[in-house]
Amino acid sequence: MKTIITLLALTLGASAACAKTTVLTADRMIDVENGKLITNAVVVMEDNTIVAAGTKRSVTIPSDADVMELGDYTLMPGLMDMHVHLTSDATKHGYKRLADSLPRVTLTGVKHAEATLMAGFTTVRNVGAPGFADVALRDAINDGDIQGPRMFVSGPSLGVTGGHCDNNLLPYEFHTVSEGVADGPWAVREIVRRNIKYGATVIKFCGTGGVLSKGTKVGVQQYTFEEMQALVDEAHMRGLTVATHAHGTSGIKTAIKAGVDSVEHVSLLDEEGIELALEHGTYFSMDIYVTEYILSEGEKAGILEESLAKERIVGKRQRENFQKAVKAGVKMVFGSDAGVYPHGDNGKQFARMVRFGMTPMQAIQAATIHPATLLKQQETLGSIRAGKKADIVGVKGNPLDDISLLENVGLVVKDGHIVKSVAM
Ligand SMILES: [Zn+2]
Repeated sequence: MKTIITLLALTLGASAACAKTTVLTADRMIDVENGKLITNAVVVMEDNTIVAAGTKRSVTIPSDADVMELGDYTLMPGLMDMHVHLTSDATKHGYKRLADSLPRVTLTGVKHAEATLMAGFTTVRNVGAPGFADVALRDAINDGDIQGPRMFVSGPSLGVTGGHCDNNLLPYEFHTVSEGVADGPWAVREIVRRNIKYGATVIKFCGTGGVLSKGTKVGVQQYTFEEMQALVDEAHMRGLTVATHAHGTSGIKTAIKAGVDSVEHVSLLDEEGIELALEHGTYFSMDIYVTEYILSEGEKAGILEESLAKERIVGKRQRENFQKAVKAGVKMVFGSDAGVYPHGDNGKQFARMVRFGMTPMQAIQAATIHPATLLKQQETLGSIRAGKKADIVGVKGNPLDDISLLENVGLVVKDGHIVKSVAM
């Protein structure tokens, strides 16, 4: 009997303590679902959930709520970056990376996870990490041990022997093979199954050569249609989405035909590639800021000369093709490739997205509602609406007038917790 009473008291105590209502008010709020700016905004959060959002006139503020009045701020959904590598250090590239152990890069990831969250990115898709270090980071964040964004993680990226997702830095006698290397339709299915077994929630593979890998050609396709199809089929059967690294024209198109959910980089895109993406509903994640960092800081950071040469060609083409894809109406998500450049600087890409053809609203939608839909999380993430998770950021001023304001996020709320507030 005593146990029952104690349990009952605990339950009542817990629910009374938990029902915490927090209210944010601000001059503006962005409704990303309708592409509208709302003035005199109010958001009511109960624990980790948004329970009401709208104008001051339409929303009643509960009398027992903690109210935070932000004034000249704009509230937006928590930002989402669909292409990061939290375990990668932007100051160490090429041969410098060989010196770091798996525990070391995992600890690096702890620092980067916090920097990313503080920059307003409450959700990321981590596309490629050694040894399932990304799974460990995600679990540590979810357990409350460390601070960081919600993570959708791929584990090691899949790729062909000697391709972009292999490690080709050392000669044959070292027998270095990346953990995601698999050749042939059944072998790729097996690696997809293994990645899922160890905690992956998305699948990433390399469909062409890349800029930063040794000895690969950016324009050249990696994996046949049959291999891509097997990989995508296996992932989809298990309920996971697939991201494909692809710079080259044939790799982009083959991946889209094989049914991938998003293509990353998309540098050497042609008209047919745009049409295929529109037809299949494929998302593009084009990292159009990173080129500036690679070409200015890359050499110091250890990026190989052959990689710098590749970037000089690819970066320019990618920006031109970004413009074409936006104009054609391809579904776009924000993907930065942070890890190649410093984590926490993710927001710098917004200004480039606007410079190369997006409206500020489109750029914000690409980092909120579109990623939520790509990840099939649109019921819980991606907009400020009753019933969704309380992931909210606030910036001083109006980012629709000046998109670069998103480089300085003043308020970050993740899962109902205020994790950053310069106004407080
Ligand atoms: Zn990447």
